[in-house]
Amino acid sequence: MYQPLLVGGQWVPTPHVRTLYAPYTRTPLAEVAYATPDHIQQVIAQLSVGQKAAAQLPTHQRYTILDRLARWISDNAEAIARGIAEEAGKPLRYARAEVQRAYITVTLGRDLVRLIEGELLPGDLSPATEGRWLLVRRMPLGPLLAITPFNFPLNLVLHKIVPAIVAGCAITLKPAPQAPLTAYRVGTALLEAGWPPEALSIISAEPAVAEILVRSPAYRILSFTGSAAVGWHLQTLAVQKKVILELGGSAAVIVHDTEDLSKAAQAIAEAAYLYAGQVCIAVQRIFVHRSLYDDFLEAYRAATYALVCGDPLHEETHLSSIIDERNFRRITDWLTEARLSGAHELIPPVLDPERRLITPGLLSELSPNIHLAQEEAFAPLAEIAPYDLPEEAFQKVNSSPYGLQAGIYTASERLLRQAFEYLEVGGLIHNAPPTLRIDSMPYGGMKNSGLGREGVKYAFLEYTVPKVLVW
Ligand code: NAD
Repeated sequence: MYQPLLVGGQWVPTPHVRTLYAPYTRTPLAEVAYATPDHIQQVIAQLSVGQKAAAQLPTHQRYTILDRLARWISDNAEAIARGIAEEAGKPLRYARAEVQRAYITVTLGRDLVRLIEGELLPGDLSPATEGRWLLVRRMPLGPLLAITPFNFPLNLVLHKIVPAIVAGCAITLKPAPQAPLTAYRVGTALLEAGWPPEALSIISAEPAVAEILVRSPAYRILSFTGSAAVGWHLQTLAVQKKVILELGGSAAVIVHDTEDLSKAAQAIAEAAYLYAGQVCIAVQRIFVHRSLYDDFLEAYRAATYALVCGDPLHEETHLSSIIDERNFRRITDWLTEARLSGAHELIPPVLDPERRLITPGLLSELSPNIHLAQEEAFAPLAEIAPYDLPEEAFQKVNSSPYGLQAGIYTASERLLRQAFEYLEVGGLIHNAPPTLRIDSMPYGGMKNSGLGREGVKYAFLEYTVPKVLVW
């Protein structure tokens, strides 16, 4: 299969291609066209026409386009999920869950289109402006440049595209090199649904070429989801535009008290290892009250050993191959560093470099300066520690440079409120692991985890500005 670029609604072949391989079987899936700087100039040249077309679409057309896109997802759900499982190595059960969430993301946008509100405010605040009224409407900021990661190749693409359709922003998407095919399928569906072709480009590009897009003042919004290192770097290049950064995490869960310890341990183990931990809110740090620690560990071990590692297209699989060689090597190096610095392996991970598989690992006593203690692991590796006082657990959660989400198990409303006040995270989940995103919620991090919020309505607000008519 050959995957061309999409430039202003036109499929454009290029001789510069990269072969895309399935992470687990290593079979070639496609030859993907990559953009040259000339293609980037063509994309940028289309933007003013595309922006006009996107901004002028009436409400009923936006509604119809999003309704058709939602129908495309529901009619093709299984094929889309298999495509995600294949190219991103995401176990089928989680790929199907992503498709279900994607349907919700699109319908949230479709329903929002009809409910966008303006304001009518009195303008006669002084004798000089008597008789005046202020009409306030949200207007699109302008063209959107969306850059997305490999791990949710459908839903995270939609979390950028759908609010842009609602707001009226022309869209340029640079999908992840490891899993671009799902994004191009969305592009085809969006054109068939009636989105103006000149307002859509999907461009695979090497980082240096993609940076030409980031630097271009023709884009008014950069919405980036990916690693902290790349995100903060791109922010320094992105002149004259709003920058939204949805970056990594090092999600923590506090187990203070719970009616069903074994159920909590099971949920936390799955949340640590699902999709080999390649989820920005996968559980990386577990803090358990000392009175529960031994029982929790026993239940956690049992739950972990029940998880299945293997082929992403098998129904029973929970974790499969690490996405690429670079990430496999990074994880291996960080694990070696942890072992050499004296970390305890409560569940020792087993590595299979041939298949790039890593079985779930649980570590303790990490030295504070090593990578696994400081950085986002993005691997099936978690750390556990006991604590005595809640304040101690809160401090441990906040000791990370990241602050995306946290979870807390407790029946105490007082403790829950304290955690909500004190924890430096974008979201706190009660009586469940932090690995939960409901697609309507404001989603994003504090500290190194980013800037701005997604969640269809919240991204719509980021992509628009209030404009006022004084009359
Ligand atoms: P990544 O940062 O390596 O890449 C993300 C995207 O940026 C890709 O499309 C990549 O090609 C592109 N990119 C890389 N360098 C670039 C450059 N110089 N110029 C322009 N584009 C460039 O991330 P990844 O490995 O694809 O995804 C994993 C990361 O994403 C993790 O850190 C994870 O936590 C994060 N993530 C965050 C969220 C969130 O909502 N906060 C969700 C999913 C993933």
